[in-house]
Amino acid sequence: MKEYGLYLDGEWRKPATGKAFVTQNPATGEALAFFLGGAAEDVNQAVEAASRAFPAWKNYPPPKRGEILLKAAAILRHRKDEFGELVTKEMGKIIAEGKGEIQEGIDFFEYIAGEGRRLLGETTPSELPNKICLTLRQPIGVVGCITPWNFPVAVPSWKLGAALIAGNTIVFKPASLTPLCAAALIEILEEAGLPPGVVNMVTGSAEEVGDAIVRHPGIRSLSFTGSVAAGKDIYAKGASLLKRVGLELGGKNPQIIMDDADIDLAIEGALFGAFGTSGQRCTATSRLIVHEKVYKEVKEKILGRTKSLRIGNPLDPEVAVGPVAGKEQEKKILDFIKIGIKEGANLLCGGNKITEDPYGKGFFISPTIFEASHGMRVTKEEIFGPVLSLIQVKGFDEAIAVANDVEYGLSSSIYTRNVSLAFQAMQALEAGLVYINAPTIGAEVHLPFGGVKSTGNGTREAGTEAIHEFTEVKSVFVDYSGQLQKAQINES
Ligand code: NAP
Repeated sequence: MKEYGLYLDGEWRKPATGKAFVTQNPATGEALAFFLGGAAEDVNQAVEAASRAFPAWKNYPPPKRGEILLKAAAILRHRKDEFGELVTKEMGKIIAEGKGEIQEGIDFFEYIAGEGRRLLGETTPSELPNKICLTLRQPIGVVGCITPWNFPVAVPSWKLGAALIAGNTIVFKPASLTPLCAAALIEILEEAGLPPGVVNMVTGSAEEVGDAIVRHPGIRSLSFTGSVAAGKDIYAKGASLLKRVGLELGGKNPQIIMDDADIDLAIEGALFGAFGTSGQRCTATSRLIVHEKVYKEVKEKILGRTKSLRIGNPLDPEVAVGPVAGKEQEKKILDFIKIGIKEGANLLCGGNKITEDPYGKGFFISPTIFEASHGMRVTKEEIFGPVLSLIQVKGFDEAIAVANDVEYGLSSSIYTRNVSLAFQAMQALEAGLVYINAPTIGAEVHLPFGGVKSTGNGTREAGTEAIHEFTEVKSVFVDYSGQLQKAQINES
């Protein structure tokens, strides 16, 4: 089995201290690789390497930085099948989604490489004659990127791609469930020509490596994607050191089905949204809010379609639902199912761990549907698994009120043929993403991605917005009058 150290200053090194761990295939239990995790001392070394690399990288022309990202995209494209399989093996999403995730990495690197020729500032007039003003976008310095396991290539590509094109150097900690995907991404960036020290990867636990990154005074900015609990902890610690903190956190995403919707289309959307990636997307549909006039039809149809979904090894292209990512995740989901039953939600299908062969060694949970009342915990808290709650409503206003009555605000969707309702929903849904006649999942890399309320703190990834997270704005005043001019004081 291959052994990995830490990627520091352009080479793989053994950590100073820390705990070793094995990464596994959640469908089969097969051990995939051995990682020598690091600790605080290794984070220090990573920050030192990133700080040394910063001046040269900052001055390296942004279009040239873009060329490296384009090369990384080309390598990913050339080896898309291989890397897609790696994602599937390590994280457990079905193979079409594994390859889709690699495509997302390719798309983002290609998109953000173009920013190397923009990184746009503004030019403005001055209130004084013979003077002009402009803004520059400059890198922040050494940034810390901490990522989750559910998109083990795409989320790191978003963060690393945007931070790099903006001229920052990076200390990166991937999730401990999926370090092999992260190591593959590092190897691709190295092959694409990224200079030593520009990206440094320290694997290891949240408590040792994550915390050391968050607290390190040499890291000026943190970009975190993960749970609300961890996000709050990181935000508080970062604030005490006046760091910039970008947070992309959880979701409890609703899909509304109105009585005039194309019901079959809406059900296909709900299935994809709820059970794609076994429900482990931050944008997964976890609430299906259905107009009472079509509730019975929706319930019967979605139950029929869910029961026909093929569960199994995600490498099999015929399989629609794979395992969940790990033991802890599995326990959390099964506990939530018990909570739902206890609080009186009607379990319509699923609800169990699948233990018979060939599933016994993996973490498989049957796609689960509850008929629930709004307010139950299963309708309000993020489960992050293949669990969908059906909620019946009387009409549009109630649908929007129920959709918004959660602490999260990441994605949302409405199926309706009524243009007026579609536009009203666009305005009224409290979410960073709104889909009309499409499921809650399916973001595209050139649009900003992120959420409102407890889903984050206002930053956005992807699109040109991503540049804002990783740059400082500098205002420049150029006076070519040859005289001392005083803003607010000179009289014209
Ligand atoms: P998590 O437990 O919060 O962990 C995310 C990452 O942070 C991991 O690398 C983890 O390390 C590390 N970490 C955890 N607590 C930390 C702390 N206090 N200080 C520093 N680092 C810490 O989340 P997850 O279970 O991996 O991912 C699932 C969550 O991510 C869900 O809530 C999902 O909605 C959210 N998510 C959000 C988005 C979005 O864009 N909004 C996208 C994807 C996922 P270890 O792995 O070593 O524990």
